[in-house]
Amino acid sequence: MTIKTVAQVCAAHGLEAPGLVTARIGGASLPASAEAETMQVLYPATEEPVTRVQEAGPAEVDAAVAAARASFESGVWSQMPVSRRQAVMRQVTHQVATHRDELAVLESLCAGLPCNHLVDRQVPRAAENFSFFADYIGHLAGETFEQMDGYLTAVTREPAGVAALLAPWNAPLALASMQIASCIAFGNSCVVKPSEHTPWSVLRLVELMEEAGVPAGVINVVNGRGPVTGQALVAHPGIDRIAFTGGTATARGIMAAAAPNLTPVHFELGGKSANIVFDDADLEAALDGSLVNIFSNSGQICIAGSRILVQRRIAEPFIERFVARTAQLRIGDPSERATEIGPLAFAGHRDRVLEYFRLARDEGAEILAGGGAAEGFERGYFVQPTVARVADNRLRVCQEEVFGPFATIQVFDDVEQAIAIANDSAYGLVAYAWTGRLALAMELQQRIRAGTLWINTPLARDLRAPFGGFKDSGIGRDGPRQCADFYTEEKASIVPRGPVTIRKMGMEP
Ligand code: NAD
Repeated sequence: MTIKTVAQVCAAHGLEAPGLVTARIGGASLPASAEAETMQVLYPATEEPVTRVQEAGPAEVDAAVAAARASFESGVWSQMPVSRRQAVMRQVTHQVATHRDELAVLESLCAGLPCNHLVDRQVPRAAENFSFFADYIGHLAGETFEQMDGYLTAVTREPAGVAALLAPWNAPLALASMQIASCIAFGNSCVVKPSEHTPWSVLRLVELMEEAGVPAGVINVVNGRGPVTGQALVAHPGIDRIAFTGGTATARGIMAAAAPNLTPVHFELGGKSANIVFDDADLEAALDGSLVNIFSNSGQICIAGSRILVQRRIAEPFIERFVARTAQLRIGDPSERATEIGPLAFAGHRDRVLEYFRLARDEGAEILAGGGAAEGFERGYFVQPTVARVADNRLRVCQEEVFGPFATIQVFDDVEQAIAIANDSAYGLVAYAWTGRLALAMELQQRIRAGTLWINTPLARDLRAPFGGFKDSGIGRDGPRQCADFYTEEKASIVPRGPVTIRKMGMEP
Protein backbone atom coordinates (compact mmCIF):
# COMPACT_ATOMS: atom_id res chain seq x y z
CA MET A 1 0.00 0.00 0.00
CA THR A 2 1.28 3.48 -0.86
CA ILE A 3 1.38 5.85 2.05
CA LYS A 4 2.11 9.55 1.77
CA THR A 5 5.51 10.55 3.09
CA VAL A 6 6.08 13.10 5.84
CA ALA A 7 7.21 15.61 3.20
CA GLN A 8 4.04 15.05 1.15
CA VAL A 9 1.76 15.40 4.18
CA CYS A 10 3.56 18.56 5.30
CA ALA A 11 3.52 20.03 1.79
CA ALA A 12 -0.21 19.38 1.47
CA HIS A 13 -0.77 21.56 4.55
CA GLY A 14 1.98 24.13 4.01
CA LEU A 15 3.84 22.93 7.10
CA GLU A 16 7.48 22.57 7.90
CA ALA A 17 8.41 20.03 10.56
CA PRO A 18 10.64 21.53 13.24
CA GLY A 19 14.07 19.90 13.26
CA LEU A 20 14.09 19.98 17.04
CA VAL A 21 11.43 20.40 19.71
CA THR A 22 12.77 21.99 22.90
CA ALA A 23 11.26 23.10 26.19
CA ARG A 24 9.18 26.28 26.23
CA ILE A 25 9.82 28.30 29.36
CA GLY A 26 8.48 31.75 30.13
CA GLY A 27 7.16 32.17 26.60
CA ALA A 28 10.43 31.31 24.83
CA SER A 29 11.69 28.06 23.36
CA LEU A 30 15.04 26.90 24.71
CA PRO A 31 17.88 26.87 22.17
CA ALA A 32 19.43 23.62 21.02
CA SER A 33 22.04 22.30 23.41
CA ALA A 34 24.92 20.06 22.41
CA GLU A 35 24.92 18.38 25.86
CA ALA A 36 21.21 17.50 26.00
CA GLU A 37 19.87 14.06 25.17
CA THR A 38 17.67 13.97 22.11
CA MET A 39 15.13 11.44 20.91
CA GLN A 40 13.88 10.83 17.41
CA VAL A 41 10.14 10.91 16.71
CA LEU A 42 9.21 8.75 13.73
CA TYR A 43 6.03 8.90 11.66
CA PRO A 44 4.32 5.65 12.67
CA ALA A 45 2.96 5.10 9.16
CA THR A 46 6.31 5.24 7.33
CA GLU A 47 8.97 5.20 10.08
CA GLU A 48 10.46 8.41 8.63
CA PRO A 49 11.88 11.02 11.02
CA VAL A 50 9.39 13.76 11.92
CA THR A 51 11.33 15.72 14.50
CA ARG A 52 13.74 15.30 17.41
CA VAL A 53 12.92 15.98 21.03
CA GLN A 54 15.50 17.68 23.21
CA GLU A 55 15.14 16.23 26.66
CA ALA A 56 14.71 18.58 29.61
CA GLY A 57 16.79 17.49 32.60
CA PRO A 58 16.44 18.61 36.23
CA ALA A 59 17.92 22.07 35.50
CA GLU A 60 15.38 22.82 32.74
CA VAL A 61 12.56 21.43 34.89
CA ASP A 62 13.72 23.75 37.68
CA ALA A 63 13.66 26.71 35.30
CA ALA A 64 10.18 25.80 34.05
CA VAL A 65 8.81 25.51 37.60
CA ALA A 66 10.48 28.83 38.51
CA ALA A 67 8.92 30.54 35.47
CA ALA A 68 5.50 29.16 36.38
CA ARG A 69 5.96 30.30 39.99
CA ALA A 70 7.06 33.78 38.92
CA SER A 71 4.03 34.18 36.67
CA PHE A 72 1.77 32.94 39.46
CA GLU A 73 3.22 35.27 42.09
CA SER A 74 3.13 38.25 39.71
CA GLY A 75 -0.66 38.00 39.57
CA VAL A 76 -0.63 38.54 35.80
CA TRP A 77 -3.01 35.57 35.42
CA SER A 78 -3.85 34.48 38.97
CA GLN A 79 -5.25 37.93 39.81
CA MET A 80 -6.65 38.73 36.37
CA PRO A 81 -10.35 39.67 36.55
CA VAL A 82 -12.44 36.64 35.72
CA SER A 83 -14.17 38.31 32.80
CA ARG A 84 -10.79 39.01 31.20
CA ARG A 85 -9.59 35.46 31.84
CA GLN A 86 -12.78 34.16 30.25
CA ALA A 87 -12.18 36.32 27.18
CA VAL A 88 -8.65 34.95 26.78
CA MET A 89 -9.83 31.36 27.12
CA ARG A 90 -12.56 31.93 24.52
CA GLN A 91 -9.91 33.35 22.24
CA VAL A 92 -7.93 30.11 22.75
CA THR A 93 -10.98 28.17 21.57
CA HIS A 94 -11.08 30.36 18.49
CA GLN A 95 -7.36 29.85 17.83
CA VAL A 96 -7.60 26.08 18.15
CA ALA A 97 -10.65 25.95 15.89
CA THR A 98 -8.91 28.15 13.31
CA HIS A 99 -5.83 25.92 13.35
CA ARG A 100 -7.82 22.68 13.44
CA ASP A 101 -6.34 21.07 10.34
CA GLU A 102 -2.79 22.06 11.21
CA LEU A 103 -3.06 20.68 14.75
CA ALA A 104 -4.60 17.47 13.43
CA VAL A 105 -1.70 16.95 11.01
CA LEU A 106 0.95 17.63 13.67
CA GLU A 107 -0.71 15.10 15.94
CA SER A 108 -1.17 12.54 13.20
CA LEU A 109 2.48 12.74 12.15
CA CYS A 110 3.65 11.92 15.69
CA ALA A 111 0.92 9.51 16.84
CA GLY A 112 -0.21 7.99 13.53
CA LEU A 113 -3.86 8.65 14.33
CA PRO A 114 -6.19 9.01 11.36
CA CYS A 115 -6.60 12.70 10.49
CA ASN A 116 -10.36 12.40 10.04
CA HIS A 117 -10.77 11.35 13.68
CA LEU A 118 -8.60 14.25 14.80
CA VAL A 119 -10.28 16.83 12.58
CA ASP A 120 -13.85 15.73 13.35
CA ARG A 121 -13.56 14.86 17.04
CA GLN A 122 -10.38 15.39 18.99
CA VAL A 123 -9.27 18.86 17.93
CA PRO A 124 -12.82 20.28 18.25
CA ARG A 125 -12.92 18.69 21.71
CA ALA A 126 -9.66 20.42 22.59
CA ALA A 127 -11.16 23.74 21.48
CA GLU A 128 -14.34 23.13 23.47
CA ASN A 129 -12.43 22.36 26.67
CA PHE A 130 -11.34 26.01 26.89
CA SER A 131 -14.74 27.59 26.21
CA PHE A 132 -16.39 25.15 28.61
CA PHE A 133 -14.16 26.16 31.51
CA ALA A 134 -14.39 29.83 30.50
CA ASP A 135 -18.18 29.57 30.90
CA TYR A 136 -17.91 27.65 34.14
CA ILE A 137 -15.72 30.15 35.98
CA GLY A 138 -18.24 32.86 35.15
CA HIS A 139 -20.77 31.05 37.33
CA LEU A 140 -18.55 29.72 40.09
CA ALA A 141 -19.75 31.08 43.44
CA GLY A 142 -18.45 30.84 46.97
CA GLU A 143 -20.48 29.95 50.05
CA THR A 144 -21.57 31.88 53.10
CA PHE A 145 -22.69 30.52 56.46
CA GLU A 146 -24.76 32.59 58.84
CA GLN A 147 -25.82 30.00 61.38
CA MET A 148 -23.22 31.00 63.97
CA ASP A 149 -24.81 33.74 66.00
CA GLY A 150 -23.26 37.16 65.37
CA TYR A 151 -20.91 35.99 62.64
CA LEU A 152 -20.73 35.74 58.90
CA THR A 153 -18.47 33.04 57.49
CA ALA A 154 -17.50 33.44 53.84
CA VAL A 155 -15.82 30.64 51.89
CA THR A 156 -13.76 31.73 48.91
CA ARG A 157 -11.42 29.92 46.54
CA GLU A 158 -7.87 30.78 45.57
CA PRO A 159 -5.81 29.15 42.84
CA ALA A 160 -3.63 26.35 44.21
CA GLY A 161 -0.40 27.59 42.59
CA VAL A 162 1.77 25.71 40.13
CA ALA A 163 0.60 22.41 38.67
CA ALA A 164 2.52 19.66 36.87
CA LEU A 165 0.42 18.25 34.02
CA LEU A 166 1.58 14.96 32.46
CA ALA A 167 -0.13 13.69 29.33
CA PRO A 168 0.05 10.45 27.32
CA TRP A 169 0.52 9.94 23.58
CA ASN A 170 -2.78 8.34 22.60
CA ALA A 171 -4.84 11.54 22.36
CA PRO A 172 -2.26 14.23 23.10
CA LEU A 173 -4.29 17.36 22.37
CA ALA A 174 -7.66 16.25 23.67
CA LEU A 175 -6.14 15.10 26.96
CA ALA A 176 -3.51 17.81 27.52
CA SER A 177 -6.06 20.51 26.66
CA MET A 178 -8.43 19.17 29.30
CA GLN A 179 -5.64 19.29 31.87
CA ILE A 180 -4.49 22.77 30.84
CA ALA A 181 -7.98 24.29 30.56
CA SER A 182 -9.17 22.95 33.90
CA CYS A 183 -5.93 24.07 35.58
CA ILE A 184 -5.50 27.61 34.25
CA ALA A 185 -9.22 28.46 34.35
CA PHE A 186 -8.94 28.87 38.11
CA GLY A 187 -5.87 31.11 37.88
CA ASN A 188 -3.08 28.57 38.23
CA SER A 189 0.17 28.38 36.30
CA CYS A 190 1.56 25.07 35.07
CA VAL A 191 4.35 23.00 33.61
CA VAL A 192 3.14 20.57 30.97
CA LYS A 193 4.99 17.39 30.06
CA PRO A 194 3.63 15.82 26.89
CA SER A 195 4.61 12.30 25.96
CA GLU A 196 8.07 12.06 24.43
CA HIS A 197 6.41 10.28 21.50
CA THR A 198 4.05 13.16 20.68
CA PRO A 199 5.69 16.49 21.54
CA TRP A 200 4.67 18.60 18.57
CA SER A 201 0.91 19.32 18.73
CA VAL A 202 0.92 20.25 22.43
CA LEU A 203 3.82 22.64 21.92
CA ARG A 204 1.95 24.28 19.04
CA LEU A 205 -1.16 24.52 21.24
CA VAL A 206 0.83 26.41 23.86
CA GLU A 207 2.19 28.82 21.24
CA LEU A 208 -1.37 29.43 20.03
CA MET A 209 -2.47 30.04 23.61
CA GLU A 210 0.23 32.66 24.08
CA GLU A 211 -0.92 34.33 20.85
CA ALA A 212 -4.46 34.28 22.24
CA GLY A 213 -3.33 36.28 25.27
CA VAL A 214 -2.30 33.76 27.93
CA PRO A 215 0.67 35.55 29.52
CA ALA A 216 4.13 34.06 29.04
CA GLY A 217 5.14 31.77 31.91
CA VAL A 218 1.59 30.69 32.77
CA ILE A 219 2.05 27.55 30.65
CA ASN A 220 5.52 26.08 30.32
CA VAL A 221 6.41 22.89 28.47
CA VAL A 222 9.16 20.40 29.21
CA ASN A 223 9.82 17.45 26.93
CA GLY A 224 11.57 14.18 27.54
CA ARG A 225 11.24 10.66 28.84
CA GLY A 226 9.05 9.89 31.82
CA PRO A 227 11.71 8.54 34.18
CA VAL A 228 13.92 11.59 33.46
CA THR A 229 11.88 14.73 32.78
CA GLY A 230 8.62 13.48 34.22
CA GLN A 231 10.26 12.19 37.38
CA ALA A 232 12.12 15.49 37.97
CA LEU A 233 8.85 17.35 37.57
CA VAL A 234 6.63 15.25 39.85
CA ALA A 235 9.27 15.13 42.61
CA HIS A 236 9.85 18.89 42.45
CA PRO A 237 9.06 20.65 45.74
CA GLY A 238 7.79 23.72 43.85
CA ILE A 239 4.79 21.82 42.49
CA ASP A 240 1.43 22.29 44.24
CA ARG A 241 -0.69 19.85 42.20
CA ILE A 242 0.01 16.88 39.91
CA ALA A 243 -2.47 15.86 37.22
CA PHE A 244 -1.46 12.73 35.36
CA THR A 245 -3.16 10.86 32.54
CA GLY A 246 -1.39 7.63 31.69
CA GLY A 247 -0.71 4.11 32.83
CA THR A 248 -1.57 2.70 36.25
CA ALA A 249 1.97 1.43 36.92
CA THR A 250 3.41 4.88 36.15
CA ALA A 251 0.87 6.45 38.51
CA ARG A 252 2.07 4.33 41.42
CA GLY A 253 5.60 5.69 40.93
CA ILE A 254 4.33 9.25 40.64
CA MET A 255 2.36 8.94 43.86
CA ALA A 256 5.50 7.73 45.64
CA ALA A 257 7.51 10.62 44.20
CA ALA A 258 4.83 13.10 45.28
CA ALA A 259 4.58 11.72 48.82
CA PRO A 260 7.57 13.52 50.41
CA ASN A 261 6.10 16.86 49.29
CA LEU A 262 2.51 15.83 50.10
CA THR A 263 1.54 17.02 46.63
CA PRO A 264 -2.10 16.20 45.84
CA VAL A 265 -2.55 14.02 42.76
CA HIS A 266 -5.28 13.59 40.19
CA PHE A 267 -4.97 10.40 38.13
CA GLU A 268 -6.80 9.38 34.95
CA LEU A 269 -5.51 5.85 34.28
CA GLY A 270 -6.07 2.69 32.32
CA GLY A 271 -9.08 0.52 31.73
CA LYS A 272 -10.26 -2.91 30.65
CA SER A 273 -13.86 -2.06 30.08
CA ALA A 274 -16.74 -4.43 29.51
CA ASN A 275 -19.08 -3.96 26.55
CA ILE A 276 -22.14 -6.09 27.38
CA VAL A 277 -24.63 -7.08 24.70
CA PHE A 278 -27.86 -8.49 26.11
CA ASP A 279 -30.16 -10.60 23.96
CA ASP A 280 -32.94 -7.98 23.96
CA ALA A 281 -30.70 -5.24 22.56
CA ASP A 282 -31.09 -3.45 19.25
CA LEU A 283 -28.47 -5.69 17.65
CA GLU A 284 -27.68 -3.39 14.75
CA ALA A 285 -26.85 -0.55 17.14
CA ALA A 286 -24.99 -2.91 19.46
CA LEU A 287 -22.87 -4.19 16.60
CA ASP A 288 -22.02 -0.72 15.31
CA GLY A 289 -21.34 0.56 18.81
CA SER A 290 -19.22 -2.40 19.87
CA LEU A 291 -16.97 -1.91 16.82
CA VAL A 292 -16.60 1.82 17.54
CA ASN A 293 -15.90 1.14 21.22
CA ILE A 294 -12.91 -1.10 20.60
CA PHE A 295 -11.49 0.04 17.27
CA SER A 296 -11.61 3.85 17.56
CA ASN A 297 -8.09 5.27 17.77
CA SER A 298 -6.90 1.76 16.80
CA GLY A 299 -7.91 0.67 20.30
CA GLN A 300 -5.36 3.04 21.85
CA ILE A 301 -7.93 4.63 24.09
CA CYS A 302 -8.47 4.32 27.82
CA ILE A 303 -12.23 3.85 27.40
CA ALA A 304 -11.91 1.01 24.88
CA GLY A 305 -14.70 -1.55 25.24
CA SER A 306 -12.08 -4.28 25.03
CA ARG A 307 -14.00 -7.08 26.77
CA ILE A 308 -17.11 -7.84 24.73
CA LEU A 309 -19.64 -9.96 26.60
CA VAL A 310 -22.50 -11.42 24.54
CA GLN A 311 -25.57 -13.24 25.81
CA ARG A 312 -25.76 -16.83 24.60
CA ARG A 313 -29.06 -16.65 22.67
CA ILE A 314 -27.71 -14.11 20.20
CA ALA A 315 -24.00 -14.91 20.52
CA GLU A 316 -23.28 -16.85 17.33
CA PRO A 317 -24.88 -14.48 14.80
CA PHE A 318 -23.51 -11.45 16.68
CA ILE A 319 -19.97 -12.82 16.76
CA GLU A 320 -20.13 -13.81 13.11
CA ARG A 321 -21.16 -10.32 12.05
CA PHE A 322 -18.68 -8.64 14.41
CA VAL A 323 -15.81 -10.69 12.98
CA ALA A 324 -16.91 -10.00 9.38
CA ARG A 325 -17.02 -6.25 10.02
CA THR A 326 -13.65 -6.36 11.77
CA ALA A 327 -12.10 -8.01 8.72
CA GLN A 328 -13.45 -5.17 6.57
CA LEU A 329 -11.99 -2.30 8.61
CA ARG A 330 -9.98 0.03 6.39
CA ILE A 331 -6.38 0.00 7.60
CA GLY A 332 -4.03 2.48 6.00
CA ASP A 333 -2.72 5.97 5.41
CA PRO A 334 -3.65 8.21 8.37
CA SER A 335 -3.83 11.22 6.06
CA GLU A 336 -6.59 9.63 3.94
CA ARG A 337 -10.12 10.49 4.97
CA ALA A 338 -11.43 6.98 4.45
CA THR A 339 -8.92 5.36 6.81
CA GLU A 340 -10.42 3.78 9.92
CA ILE A 341 -7.35 2.14 11.47
CA GLY A 342 -3.94 3.80 11.42
CA PRO A 343 -0.65 2.40 12.63
CA LEU A 344 0.10 2.01 16.31
CA ALA A 345 2.01 4.91 17.80
CA PHE A 346 5.56 3.55 18.00
CA ALA A 347 7.55 0.40 17.41
CA GLY A 348 7.78 -0.67 21.07
CA HIS A 349 4.02 -0.38 21.45
CA ARG A 350 3.41 -2.36 18.24
CA ASP A 351 5.67 -5.12 19.59
CA ARG A 352 3.81 -5.12 22.90
CA VAL A 353 0.44 -5.47 21.16
CA LEU A 354 1.73 -8.29 18.94
CA GLU A 355 2.98 -9.99 22.09
CA TYR A 356 -0.60 -9.92 23.45
CA PHE A 357 -1.85 -11.54 20.22
CA ARG A 358 0.65 -14.35 20.86
CA LEU A 359 -0.34 -14.56 24.51
CA ALA A 360 -3.99 -14.95 23.51
CA ARG A 361 -3.07 -18.05 21.50
CA ASP A 362 -0.86 -19.37 24.31
CA GLU A 363 -3.70 -18.94 26.79
CA GLY A 364 -6.00 -20.97 24.59
CA ALA A 365 -8.12 -18.17 23.13
CA GLU A 366 -9.56 -18.79 19.68
CA ILE A 367 -8.42 -16.09 17.23
CA LEU A 368 -11.45 -15.25 15.09
CA ALA A 369 -9.96 -12.30 13.17
CA GLY A 370 -6.49 -10.85 12.67
CA GLY A 371 -3.82 -11.97 15.10
CA GLY A 372 -0.67 -10.49 13.58
CA ALA A 373 1.01 -7.62 11.79
CA ALA A 374 -1.10 -6.12 9.02
CA GLU A 375 -0.20 -7.39 5.57
CA GLY A 376 0.69 -5.24 2.58
CA PHE A 377 2.70 -2.65 4.47
CA GLU A 378 6.42 -2.47 3.89
CA ARG A 379 6.92 -0.05 6.72
CA GLY A 380 4.94 1.37 9.62
CA TYR A 381 3.53 -0.06 12.81
CA PHE A 382 0.34 -1.54 11.38
CA VAL A 383 -1.33 -4.48 13.08
CA GLN A 384 -4.49 -6.37 12.21
CA PRO A 385 -7.63 -5.59 14.18
CA THR A 386 -7.94 -8.76 16.20
CA VAL A 387 -10.81 -10.64 17.84
CA ALA A 388 -10.24 -13.53 20.24
CA ARG A 389 -12.94 -15.75 21.69
CA VAL A 390 -12.28 -16.57 25.35
CA ALA A 391 -13.97 -18.80 27.89
CA ASP A 392 -12.46 -17.39 31.07
CA ASN A 393 -12.24 -13.78 32.19
CA ARG A 394 -9.21 -14.59 34.36
CA LEU A 395 -6.97 -14.93 31.28
CA ARG A 396 -4.27 -12.26 31.20
CA VAL A 397 -5.66 -10.96 27.89
CA CYS A 398 -8.94 -10.27 29.73
CA GLN A 399 -7.28 -8.67 32.74
CA GLU A 400 -4.43 -6.58 31.28
CA GLU A 401 -4.85 -3.45 29.20
CA VAL A 402 -3.62 -4.17 25.66
CA PHE A 403 -4.22 -0.65 24.34
CA GLY A 404 -4.52 -1.77 20.75
CA PRO A 405 -7.13 -3.05 18.26
CA PHE A 406 -7.78 -6.22 20.24
CA ALA A 407 -11.16 -7.42 21.50
CA THR A 408 -11.92 -10.49 23.53
CA ILE A 409 -15.42 -11.94 23.19
CA GLN A 410 -16.95 -14.03 25.94
CA VAL A 411 -20.42 -15.59 25.99
CA PHE A 412 -22.55 -15.29 29.13
CA ASP A 413 -25.88 -16.79 30.18
CA ASP A 414 -27.62 -14.35 32.50
CA VAL A 415 -27.51 -10.91 34.08
CA GLU A 416 -25.74 -12.10 37.23
CA GLN A 417 -22.94 -13.66 35.24
CA ALA A 418 -22.57 -10.59 33.01
CA ILE A 419 -22.27 -8.26 36.00
CA ALA A 420 -19.83 -10.59 37.75
CA ILE A 421 -17.57 -10.75 34.68
CA ALA A 422 -17.79 -7.01 34.06
CA ASN A 423 -16.75 -6.26 37.65
CA ASP A 424 -14.04 -8.93 37.72
CA SER A 425 -11.26 -6.47 36.90
CA ALA A 426 -8.66 -4.41 38.72
CA TYR A 427 -9.86 -1.51 36.57
CA GLY A 428 -13.13 0.40 36.71
CA LEU A 429 -13.02 3.18 34.16
CA VAL A 430 -16.17 2.77 32.05
CA ALA A 431 -18.65 0.14 30.87
CA TYR A 432 -21.02 -0.11 27.93
CA ALA A 433 -24.29 -2.02 27.92
CA TRP A 434 -26.78 -2.74 25.16
CA THR A 435 -30.30 -3.68 26.25
CA GLY A 436 -33.91 -2.82 25.51
CA ARG A 437 -34.97 -3.19 29.14
CA LEU A 438 -35.09 -0.03 31.20
CA ALA A 439 -35.20 -1.99 34.46
CA LEU A 440 -32.04 -3.85 33.52
CA ALA A 441 -30.32 -0.60 32.54
CA MET A 442 -31.15 0.80 35.98
CA GLU A 443 -29.88 -2.33 37.70
CA LEU A 444 -26.59 -2.08 35.82
CA GLN A 445 -26.40 1.58 36.76
CA GLN A 446 -26.37 0.51 40.39
CA ARG A 447 -24.16 -2.54 40.20
CA ILE A 448 -21.42 -1.91 37.63
CA ARG A 449 -18.25 -0.74 39.37
CA ALA A 450 -17.04 1.90 36.91
CA GLY A 451 -16.89 5.67 36.72
CA THR A 452 -19.04 5.91 33.59
CA LEU A 453 -21.74 3.65 32.18
CA TRP A 454 -22.96 4.15 28.64
CA ILE A 455 -26.26 2.44 27.82
CA ASN A 456 -27.11 1.88 24.15
CA THR A 457 -24.51 4.36 22.95
CA PRO A 458 -20.81 4.59 22.36
CA LEU A 459 -18.87 7.46 23.97
CA ALA A 460 -21.02 10.54 24.46
CA ARG A 461 -19.39 12.86 26.94
CA ASP A 462 -21.11 15.70 28.76
CA LEU A 463 -18.32 17.93 30.09
CA ARG A 464 -20.58 18.96 32.98
CA ALA A 465 -20.45 15.40 34.35
CA PRO A 466 -17.50 13.91 36.23
CA PHE A 467 -15.23 11.56 34.33
CA GLY A 468 -12.78 9.21 36.00
CA GLY A 469 -12.20 5.74 37.26
CA PHE A 470 -13.01 3.43 40.13
CA LYS A 471 -10.29 1.10 41.47
CA ASP A 472 -6.99 1.10 39.51
CA SER A 473 -8.45 3.41 36.86
CA GLY A 474 -7.81 6.59 38.74
CA ILE A 475 -8.02 8.99 41.62
CA GLY A 476 -10.30 12.00 41.32
CA ARG A 477 -12.49 13.12 38.45
CA ASP A 478 -12.38 15.50 35.54
CA GLY A 479 -15.43 17.69 35.72
CA PRO A 480 -16.02 21.34 36.49
CA ARG A 481 -16.80 21.14 40.20
CA GLN A 482 -14.24 18.39 40.73
CA CYS A 483 -11.54 20.43 38.99
CA ALA A 484 -12.50 23.50 41.00
CA ASP A 485 -11.94 21.44 44.15
CA PHE A 486 -8.62 20.06 42.91
CA TYR A 487 -7.12 23.24 41.47
CA THR A 488 -8.14 25.68 44.19
CA GLU A 489 -7.65 26.06 47.91
CA GLU A 490 -10.77 26.96 49.84
CA LYS A 491 -10.49 29.61 52.49
CA ALA A 492 -13.00 30.36 55.24
CA SER A 493 -13.07 33.97 56.47
CA ILE A 494 -15.00 34.57 59.69
CA VAL A 495 -16.20 38.09 60.36
CA PRO A 496 -18.24 39.23 63.39
CA ARG A 497 -21.32 41.25 62.52
CA GLY A 498 -20.80 43.57 65.52
CA PRO A 499 -18.51 44.14 68.52
CA VAL A 500 -17.06 40.93 69.96
CA THR A 501 -16.50 40.29 73.62
CA ILE A 502 -12.96 38.91 73.87
CA ARG A 503 -11.66 37.22 76.99
CA LYS A 504 -9.02 39.47 78.60
CA MET A 505 -6.10 37.14 79.18
CA GLY A 506 -3.24 38.32 81.38
CA MET A 507 -5.38 40.80 83.34
CA GLU A 508 -6.62 40.65 86.90
CA PRO A 509 -9.85 38.61 87.01
P1 NAD B 1 2.57 6.36 30.53
O1 NAD B 1 2.12 6.14 31.91
O2 NAD B 1 3.72 5.58 30.01
O3 NAD B 1 3.00 7.90 30.29
C1 NAD B 1 2.15 9.01 30.49
C2 NAD B 1 3.00 10.25 30.72
O4 NAD B 1 3.74 10.09 31.92
C3 NAD B 1 4.02 10.50 29.62
O5 NAD B 1 4.19 11.89 29.45
C4 NAD B 1 5.28 9.87 30.19
O6 NAD B 1 6.47 10.41 29.66
C5 NAD B 1 5.14 10.22 31.66
N1 NAD B 1 5.88 9.32 32.55
C6 NAD B 1 6.24 8.03 32.33
N2 NAD B 1 6.96 7.56 33.38
C7 NAD B 1 7.03 8.56 34.29
C8 NAD B 1 7.62 8.71 35.57
N3 NAD B 1 8.30 7.71 36.14
N4 NAD B 1 7.48 9.88 36.24
C9 NAD B 1 6.78 10.88 35.68
N5 NAD B 1 6.21 10.82 34.45
C10 NAD B 1 6.32 9.68 33.76
O7 NAD B 1 1.29 6.18 29.63
P2 NAD B 1 1.20 6.17 28.06
O8 NAD B 1 1.78 4.88 27.56
O9 NAD B 1 1.75 7.45 27.53
O10 NAD B 1 -0.38 6.20 27.84
C11 NAD B 1 -1.16 5.06 27.84
C12 NAD B 1 -1.89 4.90 29.15
O11 NAD B 1 -2.64 6.06 29.45
C13 NAD B 1 -2.90 3.77 29.10
O12 NAD B 1 -2.82 3.01 30.27
C14 NAD B 1 -4.22 4.49 29.04
O13 NAD B 1 -5.31 3.76 29.51
C15 NAD B 1 -3.96 5.70 29.85
N6 NAD B 1 -4.92 6.75 29.54
C16 NAD B 1 -5.89 7.08 30.46
C17 NAD B 1 -6.85 8.04 30.15
C18 NAD B 1 -7.96 8.41 31.12
O14 NAD B 1 -8.56 9.46 30.94
N7 NAD B 1 -8.26 7.60 32.10
C19 NAD B 1 -6.81 8.67 28.91
C20 NAD B 1 -5.82 8.30 28.01
C21 NAD B 1 -4.87 7.34 28.34
